[in-house]
Amino acid sequence: MIWYDVSFKMVIFAMASCIYMCHKQSGRIRNMVMQILTAGLLVVIANYVRFLSGDELVVSVCMSLNFAGVTWLMFFLLGFILLFCGIKVRKDVIRYSMVVGAIDNLSMLANIFFNHAYTLEEVGVLDGRSMYDYVPTVFFWIHYVLIFLLVFLCINTLIYKMLKSPGPYRSKYLMIMGVISFVFLLNALKMYLHMGVDISVFGYAIAGIGIYYSSMIFIPQQFLDRSLQFVGEDMLDMIIILDLENICIYANKTARKYFCMNEVLKFYGKHPIYQWCMDFNSKQLDDGVYTKHFKCEDKTIHIHMQCHKQYDKKGRFTGSVFVIKDKTIEVEEYQRQKYLETHDPLTGVYNKEAFYLRAAQILQDNPDEEYLLVCSDIHKFKLVNDIFGTDTGNKMLQTIGKVLKERCDDRDVYGRLGNDRFGLLMPKKRYDENVFIEGPADVAHIDGRESYPLTIYVGVYEVVDREMPIYAMCDRAQMAIDSIKGDFEKRVAYYDDKIREGAVKEQELIADFAHAFEKDELKIYLQPQINTKGEVNGAEALVRWIHTKKGLMLPGEFIPVFEKNGLISRLDKYVWELACKQLRKWKDEGNEDTYISVNISPEDFYFMNIYKEFTGLVKKYDINPRNLKLEITESAIIVNLPRQLELIKMLREASFIVEMDDFGSGYSSLNMLKEIQVDVLKLDMAFLKRSDNEERSKIILQTIIEMSKQLEMPVIMEGVETQEQVDFLTGIGCDMFQGFFFARPMEIERFEEIYLKDKLKK
Ligand code: C2E
Ligand code: CA
Ligand code: CA
Repeated sequence: MIWYDVSFKMVIFAMASCIYMCHKQSGRIRNMVMQILTAGLLVVIANYVRFLSGDELVVSVCMSLNFAGVTWLMFFLLGFILLFCGIKVRKDVIRYSMVVGAIDNLSMLANIFFNHAYTLEEVGVLDGRSMYDYVPTVFFWIHYVLIFLLVFLCINTLIYKMLKSPGPYRSKYLMIMGVISFVFLLNALKMYLHMGVDISVFGYAIAGIGIYYSSMIFIPQQFLDRSLQFVGEDMLDMIIILDLENICIYANKTARKYFCMNEVLKFYGKHPIYQWCMDFNSKQLDDGVYTKHFKCEDKTIHIHMQCHKQYDKKGRFTGSVFVIKDKTIEVEEYQRQKYLETHDPLTGVYNKEAFYLRAAQILQDNPDEEYLLVCSDIHKFKLVNDIFGTDTGNKMLQTIGKVLKERCDDRDVYGRLGNDRFGLLMPKKRYDENVFIEGPADVAHIDGRESYPLTIYVGVYEVVDREMPIYAMCDRAQMAIDSIKGDFEKRVAYYDDKIREGAVKEQELIADFAHAFEKDELKIYLQPQINTKGEVNGAEALVRWIHTKKGLMLPGEFIPVFEKNGLISRLDKYVWELACKQLRKWKDEGNEDTYISVNISPEDFYFMNIYKEFTGLVKKYDINPRNLKLEITESAIIVNLPRQLELIKMLREASFIVEMDDFGSGYSSLNMLKEIQVDVLKLDMAFLKRSDNEERSKIILQTIIEMSKQLEMPVIMEGVETQEQVDFLTGIGCDMFQGFFFARPMEIERFEEIYLKDKLKK
C-alpha cells in the first residue's frame, strides 16, 4: 500500500534529519536524544524492510531486530528521563541493565531459530506480499515484563518530577509525558487491531522527534525566555519597551516604581526621561548609550541609558528597548568627592592645587588676554588666632572667601593658597588698585571691633612669562607683599626687578649666614643704659654682622630675613652665648656689677625651651643670672599669655631680670599690665618720635609711667636723642634711659674703656 511506503520513507527521513541536527549540538542530553533516535530509526527500518519483504525468514529477522530495538529504545528513554529529571543512577545499575538488555536481545535473535518467544502468523496479503504478525509464546512475556517495567519507571519518574517541580519546569516534563503516552496509545491500538504493519512504529518515530524537539529546542528556548523575563523583571536598572505607537508594552519592576506606573503600564504625567524615550522612539534616533541630564523638580538627575531599536524579520521598525540607570547618587557622590578634593573646606574657594591648575588652564585658554596674579596676606594673622581665638580667625578667612566669590566673575579664578593667603588670577584690564585697597580694608577688622584694625597686604605680579608655574607667580606676588610688610602706609605692592633683587639678596644672606659663625663675623655692640644719676650699670647687646664683602651690617638688614626663614633662633642663641662669655670675662676681671641685656625674638619661644637655655647658660659660664637681663617683646608675650606668664615667673624665680621690650608698640592695652609681672618696662621709642600728636604722646607716656610706678615696675625709655627728652622724662619719673643722646651702640672694647675702666682690675 502506497501510504505505508510513503509514511515509512518520510519517518526515516525525518528521523535521520533529527539525528543529523542533533549531531551538531552538544551536551549530555544530546547524546541521549541521539541514542533514542538511533534505536528508533533501527526499529523503523526493521519494520520497513519487514513491510517490503513477503519472505517469512526476512520478516522473522526484522521482527527480532524490532523487539531488540524497542528494548534499547526503552532503556535509552528511561536514561534520558532520568538525566532530564536530574536523577543520578549508579554505574553498576547501568551495567546490570545493559546485561539484561543484551540477554533480551539474544533471546529475541535466537527466536529466529528456536521460535521460543513468538511464532509468525500470516494475517493477510498486501500488494501480493504476505503480511505477518507475531503470536507471543511463553518466553515473550519476559520481554513484555521488561518493557513494561521500563515504561513504568519512565512514567513514575515523570509524574514524581512533575509534582515536585516549580511552574516553568512542569511543562517540560508534561511534554515528554504526552509523547510517551501517545506511543502507548498507538501500541495498544495496534495490538487490538492485530495489524500486519506495526503502526506503533510511527509512534516511536514521532516520540523520538518529539523528544528531540522538546528537549533540544522548545524547552531550552522557553526556559531561556522565562529566565530572561525573570532577570529583566528583577533587575535594578529600569527596562522599558515601547511599541511603534509609543505605547509601553513592558516596564520592569524598577521602571514601574520609578515612573509610578499602574498595572496596565499606563504612565501618567510627564516625566522628562519618559518623554525622551518616546522622542527617541518616534524619531528613531541612533542606537547607543546615552548619558543625559534632566531637570526634575529643581533637581538635576543624571541618567545613563542604553537604547535599542527593534525590527522584525523583514527589517521593519517595531519599537525600542531602553535600559535606564539613574546615576544621580553616584554622580553626586563623585561631584562631592571632586569638590572636596579641589576646594578648601573652610572658605569654599579652590584649594591651592586646584587654583594652580585652573589658573594655568585659563592662561592657556586665553593666550591674547593679559593677566595679573594677585595674592593677599593678612599681617600677623597668627596673632588674630592667638588673641581672639581660632573661630574669629576662621570667620575672617570665610569673609575673605565670600568677598572673592561676590566680586569676582568667571573670567577670574581664585583660591586659598594656605593659612591666611589667597590668590587671584584676573584679566589686567579689569584691575583697579583702589578696589584692592578698599576691599581688604572693608574686611580687615574683627567682629566690628574698630580698635583692632588688621592690615591685609596685596601683592601683584603681572604675568609676563606664561610658562612660569603658577606657584612661582604666587611667590613673586608674595615677594611684593614681603617688601611692604610692616609698612602701614602701603597696602598694595607690585612685583618688579627691585623686589626680585631684594629676594636674591635675601638668598645670598641666607647662604652667607652659616659662614658668619665660622668666620666669627657676628659681634655684639653694647649700648649703655643710664640711670637718673647719670651712672651706667649695664648695656643692651645689639648684634652686628661684620660681613667680609658688605662691611658692617645693622640688624635691620638681616634680622627680618632670618625671622622669615626660621634662622633667627640660631643667631639669638649665638648672641646670648657671646653676652654670657663677656659677663664671665668681666667676672674673672673682678666686675660682677655690670649687666648685659639681650633680646629674645618671638620665634624663639616656638623653637626652643627658653628657660632651659638661659639656666643652662648661666650654669655653663657660672655667672649671676641677675647680670643677664632678658628683653621679651610685648607682642611675644601676648601671643600665648598664660604660657608666657608662667615662663616669666619661672625665669624671675631663677633670678633673671625680665624686661618687657617695645612696650606700647603692639596690641598692648594698659589693662594687660596688671596681669604681667616683669621687672622692667621698656618703652618703645615711637613715643618719642616727632609727630602731630606730640602732646598726646606725652600724656600717654606720663600715664604709663605713673601706672608702672604704682605697680612697682621701673621704666626704661629707649631712643632718647635730646636733652629736652631727658628733662621731660626725668620730670615724669622715668628711671633709666638708652639712646643716641648718651651713646650709640659701640664695640665692647670701647664700652669697657669708657664705662668700666674703674670697675675692672686691669
Ligand atoms: P631694639 O631692641 O629696640 O634695640 C634698640 C634699637 O634702637 C637698636 O637698633 C639701637 O641701635 C637703636 N637705637 C638706640 N638708641 C637710639 C636712638 O636714640 N635713636 C634711634 N633712632 N635708634 C636708637 P639696632 O641695633 O639696629 O637694632 C634694631 C633691632 O634689632 C633691635 O631693636 C632689636 O629688636 C633687634 N636686635 C638687635 N640685636 C638683636 C639680637 O641680638 N637678637 C635679636 N633677636 N634682635 C636683635
Ligand atoms: Ca631690645
Ligand atoms: Ca626696643
